[in-house]
Amino acid sequence: MDRKRIKDALEKHLEKSSPSTSRGVAAKERERLGPGKLPASLGKAGKVSDGEEFESDSEDSDVSGSEGEDTSWIAWFCSLRGNEFFCEIDDDYIQDDFNLCGLSNQVPYYDYALDLILDIESSNGDVFTEEQNELIESSAEMLYGLIHARYILTSKGLAAMLEKFKNYDFGRCPRVYCCGQPCLPAGQSDIPRSSTVKIYCPKCEELHYPRSKYQGNIDGAYFGTTFPHLFLMTYPHLKPQKPSQQYTPRVFGFKLHKKS
Ligand SMILES: [Zn+2]
Repeated sequence: MDRKRIKDALEKHLEKSSPSTSRGVAAKERERLGPGKLPASLGKAGKVSDGEEFESDSEDSDVSGSEGEDTSWIAWFCSLRGNEFFCEIDDDYIQDDFNLCGLSNQVPYYDYALDLILDIESSNGDVFTEEQNELIESSAEMLYGLIHARYILTSKGLAAMLEKFKNYDFGRCPRVYCCGQPCLPAGQSDIPRSSTVKIYCPKCEELHYPRSKYQGNIDGAYFGTTFPHLFLMTYPHLKPQKPSQQYTPRVFGFKLHKKS
């Protein structure tokens, strides 16, 4: 069945049409893994021809198999290829309504999406069409992202991101004179669907595109504009010195004159 139609439907639902988020990739990945942790009624999203732009890249052999029952939705989501920047949000945080204030009118199918994230089987036995299931899954991704942007500004969230930073999960600065400085994820906007996530290098204080195209599709609002800077204020010892050298372009060994 065709994913584009679903995407379009969601897009229409959200009444915007800017950059795509991870949803295509994630949904597809889930298909590869089988229904996994979906509540019974959400079970069979999985027919769709494989292939297209998706295959290959071989690098990381993603996800450690469908561990089936004991993998939570959150753990599963964070383990998807391209979702390496996300930390796992504490259930407690998500269950506190106060933390979700204002999100219910930003995310379609909010209640179902929330149940999906928390692995709660919807009790009233609603049966969904395949298309609705897809929408709910996409909404769950978006909701998780929006909660994530808030969570990583809390002390627990900052600590979780610190572990990931130490692990180089956010990649390194591509500039030669930054000498492989580990980066932090950053959004250019806090409004969903305005731009994709970038990585911020604390050394050169520049934004760069993430290396992986999967990461490059993630919405920047799921990390927000504040995170990298609050992170460095919280852990000031991690703020590196500015690079000591700067690159000078030369032609046959001569520096270029400003007017050249
Ligand atoms: Zn840098």
